[in-house]
Order: sequence, then structure tokens, then C-alpha cells
Amino acid sequence: MIVLKFGGTSVGDADAITRTGRIVASRRTKDPIVVVSALAGVTNQLIALGEQAARGHLIGALRAVEGLRERHLEQAERLLGTDESAADTCAELSAMIDELAHLAEALATLGDLTPRSLDAISAFGEKMSSILCVAGFQRHGLPAEYVDACQIMITDSTFSRAEPQPDAIAEACRMTVIPLVRAGKIPVMGGFIGSAKDSGITTTLGRGGSDYSASLFGAAVRADAIEIWTDVDGMLTADPRVVPTARLIEQIAFDEASELASFGAKVLHPNTIAPAVRLGIPVYVLNSRRPEGSGTKITFEAPRRAVSAIAGKNNITLVKVGSPRMLLTEGFLRSLFAIFERHRTSVDVVATSEVSVSLTVDDVTRLEAIVSDLRSLGDVSVERNRGIVAVVGSAIAEGGEAMARALAALGGVRVHMLSLSATGINLTMVVDDEQVKPAMQRLHASFFDDHARGSTEPAGAAA
Ligand code: ADP
Ligand code: ASP
Ligand code: MG
Repeated sequence: MIVLKFGGTSVGDADAITRTGRIVASRRTKDPIVVVSALAGVTNQLIALGEQAARGHLIGALRAVEGLRERHLEQAERLLGTDESAADTCAELSAMIDELAHLAEALATLGDLTPRSLDAISAFGEKMSSILCVAGFQRHGLPAEYVDACQIMITDSTFSRAEPQPDAIAEACRMTVIPLVRAGKIPVMGGFIGSAKDSGITTTLGRGGSDYSASLFGAAVRADAIEIWTDVDGMLTADPRVVPTARLIEQIAFDEASELASFGAKVLHPNTIAPAVRLGIPVYVLNSRRPEGSGTKITFEAPRRAVSAIAGKNNITLVKVGSPRMLLTEGFLRSLFAIFERHRTSVDVVATSEVSVSLTVDDVTRLEAIVSDLRSLGDVSVERNRGIVAVVGSAIAEGGEAMARALAALGGVRVHMLSLSATGINLTMVVDDEQVKPAMQRLHASFFDDHARGSTEPAGAAA
């Protein structure tokens, strides 16, 4: 069995779904299980209309709902024509959109958008795309079968970033998904969405979570491979939107791919690697517009390079805690991290000195409460508008050359914090938010431009 996950652009319209169907057909002998995202842009639109409704702008929200109806029905018609079975699919999609409209009305009445209602609304994208894809695949002769992902992706009830329950997911796969595959069918499920184990209420895994769904399902069925089909040729040496000359990485180790994903390489959700690595399942990243490409293979046995890629992330908050009295006294760091744990906020980068600890957080929803608790430990300062750039490679720390080159490339850029991961594969620097792009471009030029190869000279500012 293999799991194939198709992102938003790979199912963005009727043509894209047809291309995706061809890719699924090319994998028929491998017993595929398909996971699909919402049509490109739909999750953003759903969240925006939910917010609009909750602010009381019901007419605007309902207009957006009708826009979604039009888009899905138009693609359904292009994909399926207008016969009786096409009409069934359109009726099913339309009933779902009616439900969405009712939800928007309810949100307008309540005037509040809780994480729970945000999940209810954003889940519609994957529910609709999976219905559309099943019908499209069937039209192309594939024995596709719709599976309600909420019945399989069992989670806790932390809405908007639900924690999957691997044993329950494996059990649901044993009961529903695997028997379908054994019967020669191709199960098709929405990514990103799930339901809470206790209540059955809809949850989501967080933005970009369809990759994570694919790897969780892959682990649950002990798949031979997980293929993430997207709109770029694979994992590249940087985000091509920031560095247009970024190159394909044909093979990369699980740990490096994981660092890249965590530090901004959006091509993979940061949690995707863990379930696969536990079972040694290779993960491939492939381009659905160029299926003949080799893509990137993420495995244990990847070649080791000084530097594999550059990543970057915006909107980071830097928190500094200074405590001349208490720092490095027994239990200080434990108390500090306990505060973040209590507020379920993960810390990305940490650096300590004799008298202070600096750390970065991505998610600031609980920041006020965290800062208030941290004040019991020392002086706290918060710096917003920061960003992170990361240089990832298995031998960054060896020999010192790569490190020296990274720092030289950033000459003139203010670095607020610097950290080398314990494994020595990730050199992370916190810079001003607006410096993230130029810093990525300069680092990339320094490590990957042709003139940079074999040279220890830092490249000039490419930005
Ligand atoms: P999908 O909808 O298929 O999940 P995403 O938009 O989530 O696609 O991820 C693909 C995007 O990730 C690419 O279009 C690219 O701009 C971005 N990206 C960021 N870093 C990298 C990287 N190192 N390699 C490839 N793509 C990257
Ligand atoms: N549709 C969801 C999002 O846009 C999940 C995904 O695409 O991975 O975040
Ligand atoms: Mg994605």
C-alpha cells in the first residue's frame, strides 16, 4: 500500500483533478490510498467568511458561500458533464454548501468564532474536495471510494490543532480503509480534518495539515511509501518564491527535512516526518504538474552534505527572560519551560547566557498569560516583528567553514539571536522580520550559486 497526498493546487480545478487521477492510475498496482486537500485557496476563504460572519457581516459571508458553490459546481460540471451521476454529485455538494450557509448564519447570530466553530467551518473545504475527486476519479475509470476522513482521523479535542490518536486511527484504518484496498478499491479521504474521540465533533490538525494526515494514515496502514504531490519539483534548496534559482534536492535525510519543515519550508507540514520515521517509511515530494520528475526522496540513507538548504520564517516573537539572581540555579529552566508547557505553546529556538534566556515562539495566542507567569522568574521583554533564517545541513558544524560562511553572508544584517542545534544540523538566526527574505537570498547565493561552490569566499549581497 502507498499513500498519495494531493495539495490544493493539485486538485485546484477540473484539469488538475484529471491530472491527479492519471497519477493515481499510474500507482494502481501499489494499492493506493488517496488523501486530498481543499481546492487551492478554499480554506483561506472559509476562514475569512467565518470571521466575516462572526463580525456580523452576514451578507458578505453568504456571498462568499455562494462563490464557493459556484466554483465547486462549475468544476464538477467540467469534470463530470451533466448526466444523472453528475447531478447526484452536484446535489451532494450543494447540500453541503447549504449546511455551510446555515453555519455562517449561526456564527453571525452568536457573534463569536471559537476554535471549535473555526474547525467546523474550515473542514468544509476537504469534505467538498474529496467528494469532487471521488466522482472525477470514477469518471476516469478508477474504483475510487469516498471515505469520511472524520471517522478515521481520530484526535483529541484541541480544536484547530488537534492531537491525533494513533491507536484509534490504526483501528479505524483496519476496520474501514484496509478492507476497501483489499477489495480492489481506492479509498479517497480529505486531509487536515478529523473528529474528537470523545464527542465526535469535527477537529482539524492545523494549517497545512493534510501532509500530516497522509503520514498518519501511512503509518496506520504501514504503507510502503508516502507521496506528497504538490506544485514544485520536490524539496528545494530554498523556497522558490523567495529564491527563484533554488534547486531540487533529490535525497534528504529525515532529520534535515524535519528541520527545514519546522523552520519555514511550507512544502511539508512540520509534523509530517515523525510518523513516517518511526516506521522507516520513505516520504517522496513530487510535482503533480510534472509527474515524470524524480522529486525528493526523504529517507534514512540520504547523502550527507555540509549544507542542504536554507529556510526562513516570518512573524516570530522573541521572548527574553533576565534573572541575574536565579539563572542557572537548579530548576530555573524547568520552571521556565513548565510555563510554556502549561500554556501549550511550543518554543522553537533557545539560547542562554549567564544572566538571560532568549527563546522564540510562533504561536502568540497565549503570550500575555505566558509573560505574566514568566515575570515571577525575572525581567521579561518581548520583541515582536522578528523572523528566523535557518541553514540546514548534516555537517554545518564540522570544520567551521560553513558556519563562517553563513555568518559572513549575513554581514550587516542585525542578528538578535543565534543557535546551533544539538545535532549540529541546523544553524538558526533570529533577524528583523523584513530581513528574512534578503538574508535567505544572501545565504542561498553564498552556498548554492555556482561561484560559491568550492570557494570559501562569502558571496556579495544577492538581495
Ligand atoms: P500544497 O498545497 O501542495 O500542500 P503548499 O503551498 O503547502 O502546497 O507547499 C508548496 C509550497 O511550499 C511551494 O509552492 C513553495 O513555495 C513552498 N516552499 C517553501 N520552502 C520550500 C522548499 N524548501 N522547497 C520547496 N518548496 C518550498
Ligand atoms: N486545506 C488546509 C489548509 O489550507 C490543509 C492543507 O492544505 O494541507 O491549511
Ligand atoms: Mg501544504
